[in-house]
Amino acid sequence: MAVEEVYKLTSDLIKIKSITPVQDSGLLEASEFIRDWLKDKGFNPEVKEFYKGFPVVIASNKKEPLKLLLNGHFDVVPVGDLSKWSDDPFSGKIIEDKIFGRGATDMKGGLAVQMVTFAELADKVNYGIVFTAVPDEEIGGDKGSKILAEKYKPEVVLIAEPSTSTSMNVAEKGLFQVKLVAKGKSAHGSLPSLGENAIMKVVEDLKSLAKISEVKINIPDELNEVIKDTLEILKSQDVLRISFNPGVIRGGSKINMVPDYCEVEVDMRLPPGISSKEAENILKELVKNCEYEFLDISEPNFTSPNTKYVKILEDSISKVLGVRPRKYMTTGATDGRFFRQKGIPTIVYGPGELGVAHSYNEFISFKELRNAYEVYKDFMLKL
Ligand SMILES: [Zn+2]
Repeated sequence: MAVEEVYKLTSDLIKIKSITPVQDSGLLEASEFIRDWLKDKGFNPEVKEFYKGFPVVIASNKKEPLKLLLNGHFDVVPVGDLSKWSDDPFSGKIIEDKIFGRGATDMKGGLAVQMVTFAELADKVNYGIVFTAVPDEEIGGDKGSKILAEKYKPEVVLIAEPSTSTSMNVAEKGLFQVKLVAKGKSAHGSLPSLGENAIMKVVEDLKSLAKISEVKINIPDELNEVIKDTLEILKSQDVLRISFNPGVIRGGSKINMVPDYCEVEVDMRLPPGISSKEAENILKELVKNCEYEFLDISEPNFTSPNTKYVKILEDSISKVLGVRPRKYMTTGATDGRFFRQKGIPTIVYGPGELGVAHSYNEFISFKELRNAYEVYKDFMLKL
């Protein structure tokens, strides 16, 4: 096998429409394709549905001790406005040294890298490797990686989400997504003093809750270098604080009525250094007029940059690519949190182009795929 196999596999995977959240999308087809590909290479992969309709592919080299769990997702986000694509989003077309299509960067390219390196090295190494491919990362991950994190206890997990081949992600912010609900009293819009305006209640609470971003967070010292790199990459002070974004608001029915109901969904992200419980206590202080409920919550999490697996991967990246590897924190959530919650060192490292995940005309370059392929091989042989 060689790197050309990675290119072909990436293209083939893109051609399968495995979209979430879409009913009857190609999740099963994708899982069977991955299973058959691994079977062809002499493995005994299984497709397991821990939840009906959400197939997870698992293959192992059946050696002990289990050191490495490889993980990737084969679901992709919807294509959005078709007219903004210059070609069929599922063409998998190769033009010069780029492969185009939904999921190229996030993350069928990374999945292909893991499949090929697993197939190449599983028999050569003297430790256990499990390869896993999940169908639901883009919709929360609780039907795939969450279950895998309960089943397996590897020494280290590598997730091939697009960190780009010269960087790895060792930390991520926690989700703190909340719905505020205000109830008021209806009245004629010309006599508002006779009612209670639910929209205004939400407006006041939003202004107050926005102050959550001013709370000083003590990010653990061992992340100093990670935070420095992250600020350089993302160029936003949101990295350091609880970010605050009201994303959806609903309320009122007519201009001449005092609204008696209003709700708003607020997306906040917690840096390491504050727990969701502590954030909730702050929220309780700031929100006066609304009730609140949680939409999605996860704790901020990280793998210490000082663990030996991070060092080994750093060595591989600098040796193979001749660059200083950057370690950063992602502001989004990945399946990495499920493994880190179980205390398993977890590194997100995979090929990809910056800023093209989830966007139109998504692509991945041969160079990124080749880089990640070589680094994965080097890492696996050193482990
Ligand atoms: Zn992804």
